[in-house]
Amino acid sequence: MSPSSPPNALVGKALTRAISIRSLPKVLLHEHLDGGLRPTTVIELAAQSGYTGLPTTDPAELAAWFHRGAQRGSLPEYLDGFRHTIAVMQTTESLERVAFEFIEDMYHDGVVYAEVRFAPLYHCEHGLTQDEVVQAVISGLERGERTYAVQWGLIICAMRHLRHSVEAAELAIRHRRSGVVGFDLAGGEDGFPPKKHVDAFQAIERANFYITIHAGEAYGPESIWQALQYCGAHRLGHATRLRDDITVRADGTLMLGELAQYVLDRRVPLEMCITSNLHTGACTELAEHPFGLFFRQGFRVCLNTDDRLMSDTSMTRETTLATELFDLSLKDLEKLSLNAMKSAFAPYDKRLKLIFETIRPGFQAAHAALA
Ligand SMILES: [Zn+2]
Repeated sequence: MSPSSPPNALVGKALTRAISIRSLPKVLLHEHLDGGLRPTTVIELAAQSGYTGLPTTDPAELAAWFHRGAQRGSLPEYLDGFRHTIAVMQTTESLERVAFEFIEDMYHDGVVYAEVRFAPLYHCEHGLTQDEVVQAVISGLERGERTYAVQWGLIICAMRHLRHSVEAAELAIRHRRSGVVGFDLAGGEDGFPPKKHVDAFQAIERANFYITIHAGEAYGPESIWQALQYCGAHRLGHATRLRDDITVRADGTLMLGELAQYVLDRRVPLEMCITSNLHTGACTELAEHPFGLFFRQGFRVCLNTDDRLMSDTSMTRETTLATELFDLSLKDLEKLSLNAMKSAFAPYDKRLKLIFETIRPGFQAAHAALA
């Protein structure tokens, strides 16, 4: 398509029928390493390690078990499935394999840059140190990149119900030269406000490092406000409940509260996870998900998978879902990939290179194919 051509008018289902969403260059910023294993890998790793706790060793049944667990509509129950994935990720070999397969899956999903996160603390049950855990994951991600050319960044999570966040922050900073790009606070949100971990966030800030925080998923705007104004978050995971700070007037116009206005004005990236939000009860109806409203209003939103195994999803599925639910166009999808890439914790030159050498040409080709 030449720059003067009108943007293609196809939206929603007409667009997803006309193009391959999978082949569009996509960017993923919010996925949990222990939430994205293949069911077959869980079963094989359990057999190798002698873990006998799986509810079944049939791949299809195990996949269904994880999906059912995720569909119970509450965050604590959703998190229950991680018991099993974490149990089989306790050796350097298993961690390396899961990380490699993550990159392999990204490649097949059309993702060109991915940030993946996890809490190393949970992988020390069989004697590994947290540094060894991080190194094993990095070596799997590196092997994946060498094979598939998908670029990545690793985010270290602290768990909000534990008291290890300063240690986790220091771990993240220690590995920043080898691929760790940031720090996150994850886990059940209700009752565990982010400001309790302010020391960890200050350690990150003093190291000129990067912060994303799960906020506004299972708790309201107060959690988002704390994440931004006490903890210095550069991005927000989910932020679904920022919707509570926006009023739709009778005439359809919007009135933004001060927090929502701040998030909009400061271009705070929102790592939105539509399917996961339905599964954890952060939203009750897909069509009611605030992604559409945030996107139209100009918030810097991007699409994410959160937990591909539990939520039975992929970037292709999330992108297809959002396109069909909110009548997105190809131009909109390009905007979402660019929003995500601009918001990545990768260095500026790497982001620019991906934008101008991979993402824009990929979308230009898709526009041309539709023209
Ligand atoms: Zn998450």
